[in-house]
Amino acid sequence: MILRINGDINPYYVQTLCMVFFPGAKFGTTDVTPQTPRVTVNLRRYKSGSVKATVEIKAFGKVSRAEETVEPSQDILNSRIAKIAVGRAMFAAGKELFGHIPPWGILTGVRPAKVATELIEKGNGIIRSKRILRDEYFLNPQKAALAVSVANTEMALTKKLPDNLCSIYISIPFCPSRCAYCSFVSYTSAKLLSLIDEYLLKLYVDLENMVGIIRELGLRIATVYIGGGTPTVLSASQLDTLLGKIGELVDVSDLMEYTLESGRPDTITAEKLAVAKAHGVTRISVNPQTLSDAVLERIGRKHTVADFYRAYEIARASGIPHINVDVIAGLPGDDFGEFSHTIDGIIALNPDNITVHTFCVKKSADMLRENSNIYSLTGGDVGKCVSYSQLKAKFAGYRPYYLYRQKNTVGNLENVGYAKEGAEGMYNIFMMEELHSIFSVGAGAVTKLVSKRQPGDGGRLISRIFTPKYPYEYLRDADVLREGDPATGKQSIRDKIMQFYRENHLLNQ
Ligand code: SF4
Repeated sequence: MILRINGDINPYYVQTLCMVFFPGAKFGTTDVTPQTPRVTVNLRRYKSGSVKATVEIKAFGKVSRAEETVEPSQDILNSRIAKIAVGRAMFAAGKELFGHIPPWGILTGVRPAKVATELIEKGNGIIRSKRILRDEYFLNPQKAALAVSVANTEMALTKKLPDNLCSIYISIPFCPSRCAYCSFVSYTSAKLLSLIDEYLLKLYVDLENMVGIIRELGLRIATVYIGGGTPTVLSASQLDTLLGKIGELVDVSDLMEYTLESGRPDTITAEKLAVAKAHGVTRISVNPQTLSDAVLERIGRKHTVADFYRAYEIARASGIPHINVDVIAGLPGDDFGEFSHTIDGIIALNPDNITVHTFCVKKSADMLRENSNIYSLTGGDVGKCVSYSQLKAKFAGYRPYYLYRQKNTVGNLENVGYAKEGAEGMYNIFMMEELHSIFSVGAGAVTKLVSKRQPGDGGRLISRIFTPKYPYEYLRDADVLREGDPATGKQSIRDKIMQFYRENHLLNQ
C-alpha cells in the first residue's frame, strides 16, 4: 500500500495502525496498481499542545476521511497525544470504510498492559482506567478489562522488587525439524545440528563474559531463561554440560526462576528432565499448540497429540515445579470446535501456566508462501476462540499475568499468559514490561538494557545489542563481538553495556 505522512510522527507506528485494517500490508511504491490502497495522514501540532490529525483512506473504489483533535489532558501522557490523534482519525476512517471495529482499538503496540499500568500509576482506579481505555483508546470492554487486569497483577508482583535485578537469556537456536508456520531462525537439518557442540563451546565463553559484566555492574540475577528454538533438542549429556556451566557461574539456588524452554514434545525425555531437575531448573514448557492431530499435521509439527500427553506425563513425574503449556488460537484448519476441545483438554491437565497465542504468520514462514489468503480482517471465529480461552482459564482459577501483541496475528488479537496464583513466569513479566536489563547470549539473542524511569513522563530508556541471527554467523563473529575490534572501531559487548550504564548513571547504584 502507499502511505503518505505529512507531519512529525513515527512512521512505523502509522504503518502498524494501517495494518489494523489492512492485515499483512506491505508498504512501498513498487508494484503499484490502481487497486493499491492509499492512506494519507496529515498532522498539525499547536502551541497549546493539542494535535490535529486527518486521515484519508482510498481503497476498494471508496474514499473515507476523518479528522481528530486531541487536547492535552491528565489522562494522556504528552508523548502519546499525536499517536492518539492519528489513531482516532485512522480508526474512524477505517471503521467507516470496513464497518469493522478492531478489538484493541487504536492500541497497536506490543505491550497494551503498559498503557494500563500508566493509567493506574497516574491515580486512575481500576474502573476508571478501564473506562479510559474503552472511551479514549476505543478498546472493546473485554480487552480493556484484560489489559487492566494484567497491569494490576504485574504491578502487585513487581512492586517490592529491588532496583538492582537483571535476567539472563541463553539462546539455543536449534530445532529437531521446522514447523511450517515458523519464521524463527532455527537450525534443523542434520548437517547444521552437528554444529551444536561447537556452538555450545562459544556460548560458554560468552556466558562467562556476560556474568563477569553483570558482577562488575553489581547486579543480582533474578531469572535465567534458556530459550530457542528448542533447547531440549540437546542430548541429555549436552544439557548436563550446559546446565553445569551455568551452575558454575550463577548461584541458581538464589534465582527467582530458572526456565528451560522445552517446547517440542518430541524432544522431551525423562533423562533430560532429570538432568534439568538435578541442576535446579524450576520451570519448563511442553507445547502441543493444539490437541488435534489433523491440525498438527497441517502446521507441519512433527509430533502427535499422544506425544504431547507422553511428554506432559514425563514433565509431571520429573518434579520440576512449574509447567507451562502453549496453545495457539486460529491455526490454519482449526475451528472453534477443535480449539475449545484443546482448551478443555489442557485445563483438565491442570498445568500451573497456560499461554494462549494467536496465530501469527511472519513473512518468511513456509505457510505464507503456500497460502497468501491467510490474513483476514476479522479472523473468522478466532475472536470467539480467544474469548473462550479467557473465560475457561478464569473459571479454572488462572489469572492473566502477561500480555503481548504481534503484527500480523489472525484477527489482530493477542497472546496471553495465564497462571495459578504464585506460579507466574517472572521472566515473561520482566521481558515484556521492560523492568530491568536482560543480558543475552547466543545466536539471535538480544541484550536489552533498561534505564531507571526518566523524569517527566516516567518512561525507561531502552538500548538493544544484537548478536548475529544465524548460528554459523555467531560462530564466525562471536570473538569479535565479545572482544571488539580496534582495527574497525567495533565496540565490544562489554564496552557497549558499560557505556549505557555510565550514560544513564547506573554504575554503582
Ligand atoms: S519448534 Fe518452535 S522454533 Fe522450532 S521450528 Fe517449530 S515453531 Fe519454530
